[in-house]
Amino acid sequence: MTKKIVVLPGDGIGPEIVAEAVKVLKKLAEQGLDISFEHGLIGGAAYDETGVPLPNETLEMAKKADAILLGAVGGYKWESLDISVRPEKGLLGIRSELNLFANLRPAILYPQLADASTLKADVVAGLDLMIVRELTGGIYFGQPRGIRTLENGEKEGFNTLVYKESEISRIGKVAFDIAAKRQGRLCSVDKANVLESTELWRETMTSLSTNYPDIELSHMYVDNAAMQLVRAPKQFDVMVTTNMFGDILSDCASMLTGSIGMLPSASLDENSKGMYEPIHGSAPDIAGQNIANPLATILSAAMMLRYTLNEAEMADRVEQAVSKVLDQGLRTADIFSEGMKKVSTSEMGDAVLAAL
Ligand code: NAD
Repeated sequence: MTKKIVVLPGDGIGPEIVAEAVKVLKKLAEQGLDISFEHGLIGGAAYDETGVPLPNETLEMAKKADAILLGAVGGYKWESLDISVRPEKGLLGIRSELNLFANLRPAILYPQLADASTLKADVVAGLDLMIVRELTGGIYFGQPRGIRTLENGEKEGFNTLVYKESEISRIGKVAFDIAAKRQGRLCSVDKANVLESTELWRETMTSLSTNYPDIELSHMYVDNAAMQLVRAPKQFDVMVTTNMFGDILSDCASMLTGSIGMLPSASLDENSKGMYEPIHGSAPDIAGQNIANPLATILSAAMMLRYTLNEAEMADRVEQAVSKVLDQGLRTADIFSEGMKKVSTSEMGDAVLAAL
């Protein structure tokens, strides 16, 4: 059956980079991939047209789709708007409306770009790590929360770190399944020595592991995990963790690769329906110049092939094509170094097509 993909280019460089990823998917469609496209508005572009950053029409379209390809939202133009209609609200809105609870953030360092990292090349060369972050629960959503005034007049801020067993096992299953498609090693990150909610996290992951005899499960406290990520990141295959720990660790991991324009992400629901987007923003400083790096978005399309469309072989081919253009010395400005050939956004997209 034809799989429906909703394309939401968004703002800034969004339309430029998404166009390149769509080119790649259309090429695969010519080679047998059964997909169709629908385009929608989100973010500032949607606000300008409709007065809201997430129009109902976009949401309905997204609900009916198999997968969503998103560019990025936001920009200077909309910064003074009321927070309720800012472009970023559109993004948070679609994530929560679609119940995209599993955030997958791979940190892959192509050996050709080892010099782009702030870490020593031998520590990061060949890095291929996946962080699975719980996205719709934990301390960012827990109740009660707020700032109250105590009897003595002092103010107190408070939040609640709460996880139900069902929320933990739901994200756990995603992580075990991903580990099964990779090297079969899963590290669950918690703070079970001091936080009861993550003691339950650890217990739940341990009991889940009986269903996955081929996966090697380990546990690590989050403070150690942060240290290990910069000391020896290649020891990890897949990491699974809570919303807040994942927020922090995945940003840390992304910088191991040194190049924000290279990193894709996926946010999945219970049925592996997903929204796929680069981890970077709309880069208004370089928008409209045809110089942005489209590879993070193209690699997001590869994740879509792997995790929603179940086309692992095609996903491999896209990833290999990206590696090939890097081998050819082609670089957009953000990853350019002496001796390489500087190319534009669309030239990079064309090169990936040719490599396919
Ligand atoms: P940003 O990621 O847009 O840009 C940070 C820096 O990285 C900029 O110098 C930019 O030019 C560069 N950069 C980003 N992507 C690039 C690419 N593909 N190729 C080459 N260079 C690239 O972050 P920011 O400047 O903090 O935010 C700009 C806007 O994006 C803000 O409105 C912010 O709210 C929004 N934002 C959106 C998302 C999203 O849509 N998921 C994520 C982060 C920020």
